[in-house]
Amino acid sequence: MYLTTTGLVLREVDYKESSRILTVLTASEGKITVSARGARRKNSKTAAATQFLSLSEMTLSNSHGRWVLTEARCLEEFNGLRDDLALLALGAYIAEVTDLAANPEEPNPELMSLALNALFAAGVQKRPPELVRAVFELRVAALSGFVPDLEACAVCGKQQPLEPTLDLAGGVVHCRSCLHGASYDQRQLDENSLKAMRHILNSTSKRAFSFRMEGEPLRRLSKATEDFLALHFDTRFKSLDYYKSVREL
Ligand SMILES: [Zn+2]
Repeated sequence: MYLTTTGLVLREVDYKESSRILTVLTASEGKITVSARGARRKNSKTAAATQFLSLSEMTLSNSHGRWVLTEARCLEEFNGLRDDLALLALGAYIAEVTDLAANPEEPNPELMSLALNALFAAGVQKRPPELVRAVFELRVAALSGFVPDLEACAVCGKQQPLEPTLDLAGGVVHCRSCLHGASYDQRQLDENSLKAMRHILNSTSKRAFSFRMEGEPLRRLSKATEDFLALHFDTRFKSLDYYKSVREL
């Protein structure tokens, strides 16, 4: 059986002398493992198309449940990410989270579109990396079933909570004064960062990245989305630690 599909390389591991084993998020088959024989050979036609974070048109053959790459053409290399250490680290974080969020062999067009839009926003449109990260984190959490309810204070019902605070575990927002006693599970927002979170959740995947924010509101936004995602995925992303260590250089 042969199949041609579009795929984003989420992971590549060297295999034997000149091959690669890839984790690919494909449009038609979802996340699959692909062996790319000879991809590292000198003058290999599939070298660019099988590298980490490439978006490629791939022709695959399937034999006994194993996917083998027969042809590949790179559609987008995201060179804007590769030329910048911090952006490449952000790309690696987007890939690691996407890999975790994708179920094997289950097509997830929304997740693929979100990952591609995030890579495009950071690497091609040169949107602020922290903004891209926050949008990606909140949307990938929502796609995975963790959608915070941000419409109004969960306690008093005010649509514009006073000193809005996100309850990470409960996935709700409330006025700071509506809950008594501090908890490690709360992240302080402000009017602008709450507005941004609502925009991110209520827009299409592409439109979600188009807003401006910087300074303290952006810092609050990304702190909240990062911790919300990590809590609900119950994990610590190594690539995020690395991104943070290089982003200020
Ligand atoms: Zn309230």
